Amino acid sequence: MHCLRNVRRVCCQPHGTHPAAPATSCTVPLRFQVRTAASGNALIVGGGFAGLAAADVLAKAGLNVVIVEQGRGLGGRMCTRTVTLGSRGERVTFDHGCQYLTARNPLFGAVLDDLQQRGAVAQWGLGQPVGTAHLAEDGTVDMSSFAADASKALWVGAPTNSSVGRALAARCGPRLTALTATQVEGLHWDVGRGMWTCRARPTAAGGSGDDASHARLESTSFDIVVTAMSSVSTARLLSSSSSSPGGEGGSSGSGQAHGSLAADVVAAASEVQSNVCWALMVALNKKIDVPFDGALLSRPDPEGGAVPLYGPIAWLARDSSKPGRPLVAGGQGESWVVHGGPDWSNTRRGAAPADVAQELLRDFAHLVQTRISADDVIHMEAHRWNNAYPLNPRPPHPPTPLAKEAGGGESGGGSAAAPLAGYFMIRPEMRLGVCGDWCKGPRAADAYVTGWEAANALLRL
Ligand SMILES: Cc1cc2nc3c(=O)[nH]c(=O)nc-3n(C[C@H](O)[C@H](O)[C@H](O)COP(=O)(O)OP(=O)(O)OC[C@H]3O[C@@H](n4cnc5c(N)ncnc54)[C@H](O)[C@@H]3O)c2cc1C
Repeated sequence: MHCLRNVRRVCCQPHGTHPAAPATSCTVPLRFQVRTAASGNALIVGGGFAGLAAADVLAKAGLNVVIVEQGRGLGGRMCTRTVTLGSRGERVTFDHGCQYLTARNPLFGAVLDDLQQRGAVAQWGLGQPVGTAHLAEDGTVDMSSFAADASKALWVGAPTNSSVGRALAARCGPRLTALTATQVEGLHWDVGRGMWTCRARPTAAGGSGDDASHARLESTSFDIVVTAMSSVSTARLLSSSSSSPGGEGGSSGSGQAHGSLAADVVAAASEVQSNVCWALMVALNKKIDVPFDGALLSRPDPEGGAVPLYGPIAWLARDSSKPGRPLVAGGQGESWVVHGGPDWSNTRRGAAPADVAQELLRDFAHLVQTRISADDVIHMEAHRWNNAYPLNPRPPHPPTPLAKEAGGGESGGGSAAAPLAGYFMIRPEMRLGVCGDWCKGPRAADAYVTGWEAANALLRL
C-alpha cells in the first residue's frame, strides 16, 4: 500500500483493444474500447470487505487501485473502538460491529487461512463458550438453554477486529493506495473520454487524507470504478453522480450532466432494506457470571417459524474474552458488547445515544440477572449502525456471457472454468462494478464474494 501521490494520471486514449473490437474509436461501443486492464487506474469507493476484495483482484491484475474510505480505517463494519480511560490511562477495546468471521464459502475460507498465517486473525471460543441461548418469559437468559456452536471455527481480528481491514489491504500489495477519512460525494462518467472522475471531501474521522491528496484524487481519471458500500450509500452516491458527453475539454464534473447514472442500480439498491442496530460498549470493573462469552439470544417461536424472535437484546459478547484483548481493570473487570434486537433498534432510530446506552445497560443487567451500579461502570457508550445488515439481499442475477467467462466465484481459487454466480451488478459500457453485502447476504464473507465477483467481471470486459 502506498500513498495517493503515487497514483499516476493515465492517458485518456485507449491503450489496447479487446480482440473482439474492430477499432478503437468513439463510434465503437465503449465496452470494446478496452484499455489493457492491467495498465489502468481503478477507483474503489468503500473500504469494507467488498471493496478490499475488489482491490485485491484488480491490484493483482496490475491496475493501480485507489480505495477511498470515509471512515478513519479500513474494514468497514468490522472495526474496533479504542478508549483510553482518563484517570487510569488504561486502554480498552470494543469490537462493536461485526463480531466474528467464519469460512462460509471456499473463497473466504482461503482468505481466512491467509489472514491466520499473517497473524491478523485468531480463533475465538475454543472452549465452546459461544453459541445460542433462549430468552425466558421474564426476559432473562435461560442459562440452561445455552448451546455452544461447535459446527464451525469462529475467527476474530488479532489483536482487534480493526486488524482485519489492514491485513486485507496489505494482501493487495504495492499497487493499492488507501485514502481514509475521505468521502466520495459524486462520480462523473465522461462518455467521450471513457473515463471516470470523482468529487471528494475530507471527513471528520481523521485518517490518511489531506488537502493535497484530495486534490490529487479529484484530478485523477479512472478507467474502472467499483462501488462497495451498503445499499443505502450505493443509491445515494449513484443518485448524486452524473455523466456527460465530455470528450475534448470535458473533465471532472464540468461536463453537462445528462440523465441519471445507472438508474437500474439505484433502483435495485433502493429495494434492499436494512435495519438499525444499536451497540452498547461497556467496561465494568467486575465480572459477569454467565456460562458463555458470546450468545445470540432469541425466544423460541411457538409456531416453529424459521425467523428467530429477538427481544431488546439480540447478542451479548464478553469482548475482553477474545484473544489478545487488553485486560480491563487490571484483570478484575471485563468489556462487553451488547447488540440491540432489530425491532428494538429500529424503533429507537432517532434516540439519543446516551439514553440508548442507559436502556441497554438496564436490559443487560436484567438479562444476566446481575446488579450493575454506576460504580461498576468504567466506560459506557452506544453506537448506532444505520445499515447494519441487509434484510432482503438482492438475489443473484443471471450472469451475462461476459461475466460467465470470469473464473472462480464461490468455488474459490480463481479457476477459469467456474462461472461467476452473479452476486454483483455491472454497467459494462461504463466499466462500473457494484458490490457490497446487499448483493448477497448479511455476512462479511458474503460481502467479500460480491467484491471479488464484481472485480473479476470487470476484468473480462
Ligand atoms: C452490528 C453488526 C454485527 C455484525 N456481525 C457480523 C458477524 O458476526 N459476522 C459476519 O460475518 N458479519 C457480521 N455483520 C455484517 C458484516 O459486518 C457486513 O456484512 C460486512 O462487513 C459488509 O461489508 P461491505 O464491504 O459490504 O460493507 P461495509 O463494511 O459497510 O463497507 C462499506 C464502506 O464504505 C464506506 N463508505 C460509504 N459511503 C462512502 C462514500 N461515499 N465514500 C467513501 N466511503 C464510503 C463506509 O464507511 C464503509 O466503511 C455485522 C454487522 C453489524 C453492523
